[in-house]
Amino acid sequence: MMTAQRYLERFPNKRVLLVEKEYLGAGATVKSGVLASDLVETPELRTWSDESQAYYELIQFTTIRDIYQPLSAYYLYESADRVPNGHTGDQMAGGQFIHKLPSWLARNTGMVAVTGKARYINPQDLITHFARCFARNKSIKVLEQTTVEHIEPFGNDLHLVKAGKELFYANAIAVCTGPWPFDSFGMKGLRNKRIVSFIIDEVPVSSDRVLYFPEEGAFLLPQEDKNQWLLSVTSTQWDVSADDVFDFRSDDWALAFRFANKYLSLEHGAIQPGNVFCDAYSPNKIPVIKHHPTMKRVVYAGGGSGRGVRLAPVIALEALKALDIEVEAPLNKYT
Ligand SMILES: Cc1cc2nc3c(=O)[nH]c(=O)nc-3n(C[C@H](O)[C@H](O)[C@H](O)COP(=O)(O)OP(=O)(O)OC[C@H]3O[C@@H](n4cnc5c(N)ncnc54)[C@H](O)[C@@H]3O)c2cc1C
Repeated sequence: MMTAQRYLERFPNKRVLLVEKEYLGAGATVKSGVLASDLVETPELRTWSDESQAYYELIQFTTIRDIYQPLSAYYLYESADRVPNGHTGDQMAGGQFIHKLPSWLARNTGMVAVTGKARYINPQDLITHFARCFARNKSIKVLEQTTVEHIEPFGNDLHLVKAGKELFYANAIAVCTGPWPFDSFGMKGLRNKRIVSFIIDEVPVSSDRVLYFPEEGAFLLPQEDKNQWLLSVTSTQWDVSADDVFDFRSDDWALAFRFANKYLSLEHGAIQPGNVFCDAYSPNKIPVIKHHPTMKRVVYAGGGSGRGVRLAPVIALEALKALDIEVEAPLNKYT
């Protein structure tokens, strides 16, 4: 969606076909929490993240209001000596902030909080925004419930795409199939990892902050509009098959309960299943843009590594560049 969007911003009159085997956003995207945080592991990821956030801020300003929300955050560490050197921000000892945490958070006064910012996008709102833009734009045709099965070269400049019962010709193709890449790209190093989130049945208030637990790879996001909190924990299950991402497993619950036993003080039944799916992870967590081994104007773009929506604006731009599409022009208001 983002690749089509960014292409149309640059070339509003060119024709785009978006083929989706289910419905727009049906894969990992609709399941995601979509948060940008102050903590980014490497300078390279920082660049991807900052440029993507700048794009989201711009479209927030020009078109989608209220989707991209700034939030305040506490980054919570077990003790002061666990705060990494690179993590700057105001540091507070337990006594200074514990009373500001939700009452169902276990009181550990040894804890240290580093204050910071986060930005949130509601994935459903983002998908709806794209769907509306595409519906208004005659240059793009969206084909849902249609699976791309085969792509082959056709003459010098074109490719033949077989999708369901239909055949299409395309000059350039971005394959954005999410966690399960096309085998034909000979992808090395990309692996699927499960991602799970849970719902905490507690009502947030407007002063609540996002609570990150960097040592645990977990966060708690207040969702005021839904009267609930979202708990995201890091799963360690790799190489997930497409059949195995629809139900919560005992391992998933074990992750939630381990976190809850350490940090939360909740009534029985307060933790409910949220979302389960998976994402393609690259070894350095940088998204992957890869040319097809024989078709130079066919690229795979993905490997979101748990950040694919947050980084989508730059993933899309890099995919277009790899297709030799000049995309440097400034962003136009979406047509
Ligand atoms: C629970 C959870 C929480 C997450 N939280 C965050 C977060 O907070 N922030 C963040 O940035 N990221 C988060 N992520 C990761 C993020 O969702 C992914 O990185 C991102 O959505 C990947 O986008 P994508 O377009 O590559 O894949 P997808 O969203 O999976 O889209 C791929 C699409 O391709 C379609 N498709 C596949 N094969 C074919 C075919 N042959 N023909 C036609 N269509 C096909 C699929 O139906 C799907 O709709 C989270 C993921 C999960 C599961």
